[in-house]
Parts: sequence; C-alpha cells; structure tokens
Amino acid sequence: MRRALVVGNWKMNGTRDSVRQLLADLKAGLDVGKPVDVAVCAPFVFIPEVAEQLKGSAIAVGSQNVADQKSGAFTGEISPAMLVEFGVRYAIVGHSERRAVYGETDALVAARYAQAIEGGVIPILCVGETLEQRESGDTFKVVKEQLDAVLDKAGVQSLGKAVIAYAPVWAIGTGKTATSQQAQEVHEFIRGEIRKRDAAVAEKVQILYGGSVKADNAAELFAMADIDGGLIGGASLDPKAFLTICHAVG
Ligand code: PEP
Repeated sequence: MRRALVVGNWKMNGTRDSVRQLLADLKAGLDVGKPVDVAVCAPFVFIPEVAEQLKGSAIAVGSQNVADQKSGAFTGEISPAMLVEFGVRYAIVGHSERRAVYGETDALVAARYAQAIEGGVIPILCVGETLEQRESGDTFKVVKEQLDAVLDKAGVQSLGKAVIAYAPVWAIGTGKTATSQQAQEVHEFIRGEIRKRDAAVAEKVQILYGGSVKADNAAELFAMADIDGGLIGGASLDPKAFLTICHAVG
C-alpha cells in the first residue's frame, strides 16, 4: 500500500504574518491519526521561519524549485544543500508555471530533478498537458516525453526517492478539475510507463493529482486506484480547505 501525501503549493503568496497564522491553524487542526503525509511548499524566503515553526510537527517543509547545479555562479538559484540545511524535505520541479512562464525545458527540469536526488531532497516532479495538447489527443505523448526526460537522465530507481504530480495545465488555478476518471486514466498511464522500466518502483511511487483540488472534490479523486494524494495550489492557502483535503485521504 502506498501512503498518501498531500502537498500545499503556496506559490508567490503570503506575508510573514499570514504564514505564521496559516501554520498555526494547520498544526492545530491536522488529524495525525489519518494515513497521510502532509507538506507545504513555501516561497524560499519564508522557509527558515516555516521550518522553525513546523519543528516537531507532522508537517514537512518543501520548496517550489531547486537548482540544477550543486553550487557556484548561478545567480538567483538555491541549491539542494542549502535547502537541506534549512530542513527542507521536498522540492517541486517542473511546475507548469515554471515551464510556461519561465521557459523551463524538459532538460532543465531533469537536471533540477537529478540535483535534488543527489542532494537529498525529494523532488516532486510535475507533468501535465495544456488544453490544446489534450484537445489534439496528445496528453499521453506529452506526459511521456516529460517523464522520459527525467528517467533517461536520473534512472528509474531515482523514483524511489521522488514523487510525481500529474498536474494538467488546463486544470491549474482555473477551477476546472479533471474528473476522477480523467485523472485516473493519466495516473494509470504514468504508472504503466514506469512499470515498463521497473515493476517494483512503479508499485511504490506516489503519484499525486494537482489541478483545482478543493475540499469538495478531494475525496473522490483520492479514492482512485492510482491517485496517491494531491498537489494543492489555491486551496492550500485556506487552512480549513487544506485540512479538509488532507483528511479526505484514506
Ligand atoms: C498547483 O499549483 O500545482 C495547483 C494544482 O494549483 P491549483 O490547486 O490552484 O489549481
């Protein structure tokens, strides 16, 4: 049985005060008896305070990206070693906003993923198609290309220390959620592609769904056979909604 994981992606939101309040509410409200791991991916500058406030709690800290290099002249980047020093467990890589708005290619995403693995941070690899790609029947092709870029570079065994998130671009921040069947179909495809490389790894890897997950649709999505939790954007800023989503597992 794969353990469920729910990850909040705060994106570029929050203030020191709002983050403190949000974490206090999450710590107070989280039912630690539920079979779910929980993490929040904070903007880099908040990470030291977030890690401090979450020390000893069941909630892990994540970042929203990680460098594709170990150290050196890479202005604006944050290395895995720096993240580890501040208690970071997860790093999102290849989020569609990074791919679409900042031009991150499959090759760059694969390099970030590989550095995360090497540096001891668990990458949350995001894959997913645009609306145009879905409508032209290219969903599986696009997802496979994004996945293969990473597996060809880092090897299938790397998934033992990684998480995948299927986050279709057309469903992110739009209020349009994939139906549980639509999501399951792609999750099953992803697991099948991994199985072709290594069956044991495929059974173990957590595949999260991301894209307008809300308190009222989480349980149905999480009940699907190959959906192991969620990557939650907008709703992760609302403690009540985020906790309801975390508790919708199992
Ligand atoms: C995301 O940022 O990965 C995401 C899924 O956002 P939202 O939940 O707001 O669609």
